[in-house]
Amino acid sequence: MTGHSVSDLDENLIARGVLAETTRVFMDRSVAGALTAPVGIVLLAWVQSAAVGWAIVVGWACMMGVIELVIVSIGARYRRNLGDDHQVQHWASLQIALAGLVGLGWGSSVWLFWRDGHYLLYLLNVTVLVGVSGVCMIIMSAFRSATLLFSVGILLPPLVQLAFVDNPYTWQIAAGLLVLFAVQIRYAREVEQELHRELNHSVRNGALLMQISMARSELHASNAALEVKNAELQTALTRLNQMVTQDVLTRAFSRRYIFEQLERQVSIRRRHGASVCLVMFDLDHFKSINDHYGHPVGDRALQMVAQTVTAELRDGDMLARVGGEEFLVLLPMTDGAAAFLLADRLRGLLEKTTVTEGSVKVHLPASFGVAELLPDEDVASWFRRVDAALYRAKATGRNVTVSAEPDEGFTQPAEL
Ligand code: GH3
Ligand code: MG
Ligand code: MG
Repeated sequence: MTGHSVSDLDENLIARGVLAETTRVFMDRSVAGALTAPVGIVLLAWVQSAAVGWAIVVGWACMMGVIELVIVSIGARYRRNLGDDHQVQHWASLQIALAGLVGLGWGSSVWLFWRDGHYLLYLLNVTVLVGVSGVCMIIMSAFRSATLLFSVGILLPPLVQLAFVDNPYTWQIAAGLLVLFAVQIRYAREVEQELHRELNHSVRNGALLMQISMARSELHASNAALEVKNAELQTALTRLNQMVTQDVLTRAFSRRYIFEQLERQVSIRRRHGASVCLVMFDLDHFKSINDHYGHPVGDRALQMVAQTVTAELRDGDMLARVGGEEFLVLLPMTDGAAAFLLADRLRGLLEKTTVTEGSVKVHLPASFGVAELLPDEDVASWFRRVDAALYRAKATGRNVTVSAEPDEGFTQPAEL
């Protein structure tokens, strides 16, 4: 898996995100500022109109109105172009340049509205400029370039005026203005830094959240894949288990499985003393069936035998194929006499059972050995005795059932 660690944030991407967020904040604030500016513009124009006449104040107000309108429309265009990095840069630069123009517009009022001797109106004008710049500095604080351009714009006209206009208070006012603007710029910087810290955090958190959710969906996907693999593995395991415990041809239990069961029965016998019997049978002259009718017929015969015997067994009895055409039947909770009766009944059944090949009916007689597990006997001895009984059944002439003798094949448990 290509791991995403939540620590390796792309710093380039973060910086771009912070810039985009800063621009968004700057644009929103510029538009809000431009929409409230007419209040100040109209107020200043109205106050100054008495001294300078309507033509000049209306002209100035219209010029300011146009600049504010451009700011609002740029804000709107920016919103429409969100997501396009190149466009965003373009509109942001334009808006920053406009900050300088707005400053110049406000600052130009001291030139336009200056009338000799009207010092009170001049003072009022300068006071409005200080107030406006205080508000604008905060509005534009997102970009230092905007704050600087704006302050240069709004400061330049009153300062230049010093050189041309004979005003007894201009020096003091200019000094006061410079100090006020220095203070404003300083606070604007603090506001700017605070804003950048905040935006940095929120962009970083956003990126982290994105990474976490990506890692989570990756985890979900690999988990789902793992579940599929697990299910496949379970199926394969079940199949494997079946292959180990079952004979593929006859569906009877396998040799390996039945021998495990014999071990179990031996320990149950030792603990609880319950009778348990083993029947072993082998089809008579089976080789000749194969030889006469072919292997497939032999296979069908083996399947038929397993089917016939299984149908006769109780729950808990087990049929296993332990050799080519040799079978074991394990009969728990059954004594020797009952086992013999069952074995002989099975023999009688098989004797009548046939597989058909064309018009020929092939009979499937078998020889049976029966052995009850003796107290303290082990599996090897038990199996040897049932095998010996089967051998005697064959020797007796086949298609018979023979009980094992207690002493045949029996080995005394080793002395401790
Ligand atoms: P007996 O009465 O002495 O048991 O004679 P038999 O011919 O049955 O004994 P033998 O052990 O000589 O032959 C067993 C035959 O079983 C040999 C082999 O061809 C056949 N056999 C073993 N496994 C299979 C099998 O999976 N399919 C088929 N069709 N035949 C099998
Ligand atoms: Mg045989
Ligand atoms: Mg055999």
